[in-house]
Amino acid sequence: MASRLSQPLTIKLQLTLVFGALVVLASVVITWALGGMLRERVRTDAGRVLTLLAGNAARILANDLTINADMVDLLARREAVWTAGLDSPEAQRTLELIQATAPRTHLWVGVADAAGTVRAATGDLLRGQSVAQRAWFQRGQEGPFVGDVHPAKLLATLVPADRDGEPQRFVDYAAPVVLDGQRLGVLGVHASWDWVGEVVDTVLSTQARGSGIEIFIFDREGHVIFAPRGQSQKLAADGVRMPPLQGAGPAVATWHDGAEWLTAATRLPASRALGDLGWTIAAREPAETVFADVRDASRHALMVGVLAALVGALLVRFAAVRLGADVRRLSKAAREIELGVPGARLPPAASSAELRSLADALGRMTTRLMATQGDLERQVRERTAELEAANAELGRQARTDPLTGLPNRRTFDLQLDHALAAARRNGQPVAVLMIDADHFKRINDLHGHPVGDDVLVMLAGVLRARLRESDLLARYGGEEFVALLPGAGQGDALAVAQALVAAVAARRSAVYGQVTVSVGVAAAPPGEAITRTLMRRADEALYRAKAQGRNRACADGEGVADAGGASEI
Ligand code: GH3
Ligand code: MG
Ligand code: MG
Repeated sequence: MASRLSQPLTIKLQLTLVFGALVVLASVVITWALGGMLRERVRTDAGRVLTLLAGNAARILANDLTINADMVDLLARREAVWTAGLDSPEAQRTLELIQATAPRTHLWVGVADAAGTVRAATGDLLRGQSVAQRAWFQRGQEGPFVGDVHPAKLLATLVPADRDGEPQRFVDYAAPVVLDGQRLGVLGVHASWDWVGEVVDTVLSTQARGSGIEIFIFDREGHVIFAPRGQSQKLAADGVRMPPLQGAGPAVATWHDGAEWLTAATRLPASRALGDLGWTIAAREPAETVFADVRDASRHALMVGVLAALVGALLVRFAAVRLGADVRRLSKAAREIELGVPGARLPPAASSAELRSLADALGRMTTRLMATQGDLERQVRERTAELEAANAELGRQARTDPLTGLPNRRTFDLQLDHALAAARRNGQPVAVLMIDADHFKRINDLHGHPVGDDVLVMLAGVLRARLRESDLLARYGGEEFVALLPGAGQGDALAVAQALVAAVAARRSAVYGQVTVSVGVAAAPPGEAITRTLMRRADEALYRAKAQGRNRACADGEGVADAGGASEI
C-alpha cells in the first residue's frame, strides 16, 4: 500500500484532476459572486414592487378615508339639511344619500342629538338608543373625527357579518352638526372594515397574488388590524405584531409564521381631515419565491460549470494521453538502450513541440554516447591486449636470464619444488648438478667482460645440448649453472656431470682458449625424503671438486671425477 501511495501519479491523471478541479472551483466562485449580485438585484427589484404596492394601498386608503371624512363634515355643516330637525325627512334623506355613496361599506349612517340619543339612522337602526358613551359621539362633538378600527358594539347583532363571516369591525367617521353656530348633535358613519379588504384586492393584481404577495396593516402600536385571507381577527387575537425591519428600505424579515418574507412597509399619510392614524401598510412576498430564480440561475451556472469541467478534463486528458504515450515510448526505448537491445533507439515524439525537441536532443546524445562507448570499448580491448602482451613479456623476462636465454634462478627454485614433489609422489630418484666455471674471473680480467659474457653464452649452449629435454638447466647466478635431472640416481647423475665437464673442456676458442667447469652432484634415491638439502649437498660436492683441482665432477659425499672421466666413486 505504502509503495502504491509513494508512486507518483501519471501526467494524465494529474492534469485531468487539476484542470477539472480548477474549472469546478472557478464555476463555484463565479456562481457565488454572480448569485450574490443577482440576489441583491432581485431583492431591490422585488422590494421596489412591494414598496409600490404598499404605497398604492396607503394612498387609496388615505384617499377613501379623507373623502368620507370630508363628506361627513361637509353634510354635518350643511344647515339646510338640519333646519327642520335632526329627524326630519330631509335629514333622513341625507343619511340615506351618504349610505348610497358606499352601500356595501357604510353599514350605518345616523345622527344623534346633543344628549347622545340617536334621532335618525339608515334602516332606523339604533334610533332612540343612546350613543353618549361611544367614542365617535364624544370626539365628534368637538370636531371632525376619524376613528381607528374597532369591533361593532351596539350594531354587532344588527348588521350582517363581514365578508369573511366574522363579526363586523368598523371605522367611524363623525362630525358635529351645527346650526346657527349651535351644536345640535353628531353625524356619524360606521364603515365596514371590509372596505380595507376591497382596497387591498384592488391594489393586488392577480399576478401579484400569484407570486404570494400579501398586504398587512398594523395600527399605531404595531398590532395587526388587517391581514389577508380573513385572518385579521385571529391574528389580532394572537397579538401578532409587525416584524422589525432592518434599515429603511425593503428587507427580508421573519414573520410570525416563522417564514422569511421580503417586506416593504409604508406609513399611512397623515392629513388635516384625517390627522395621523399611525397605520403601517406592509407588503410582503415569500423570500423563497423572490429568490427562486436566483437559486435556479445559480444551479444552472453550477451545472454548466461542472459540464465545462467535464469537457475540459476530457480534452486535457486527450492531450495528456498523447503526452504520456510519448513519454512512455521514450522511457521504453531508454530502457532498451540501457539493456543494450540491438537496434534500440529513441523514437521521435509528436505530442508537443517541447517533447519533440527533447526527444531529438536525447536521440542525438544517445547516438553520440553509443559511438563514444564503442570507441572506448575498442580502445580498452586494444589496451588490454597490449597490456597482456607486455605482461607476458614481463613474465617471460622475469623467468629468463637475458644473457643466456636459460631459465633464471627464480624459475629453477619454483620448478625444483615441483620436481621434488613429483619425485616424492612417483617414488623416483632425482639428482641435482651444480656447475661452476673455473677461474672465470681470470677470463674477465684477461679478455674483458664482454668476452666473459660470450663464454657464459657458450657454456649455456654446451650444457643445454648435452642434457635431456626433460632435464632442467638454469643459470643460477654469476658463472654458476644448475641442472635438475628427474629420474637420475647418483650414478647416472655423476656420469652426466662428467660428460658435461668433458664437453666444456673440449671446446677451445681462439679468443679465450680453453674454459673448464667443476660440477657438484647430489642425488636422492627413490623413497628417501627428498628435501631442499639436496641443493646444499650439491654445493658441497662442487666445493670439493674445486678443492680437488677443478675441471671435474664430484658426487655428494665421496665421489669425484676429473675431466678425463676418472671418478673417485
Ligand atoms: P673458481 O674457480 O674458484 O670458481 O674461481 P672464479 O674466478 O671462477 O670465481 P670467483 O667467484 O672468484 O669469480 C667469479 C667471477 O665471475 C667474478 C665475476 O666478475 C664473474 N662474473 C659473474 N657473472 C658474470 C657475468 O655475467 N659476465 C661476466 N663477464 N663475468 C661474470
Ligand atoms: Mg663461482
Ligand atoms: Mg668459478
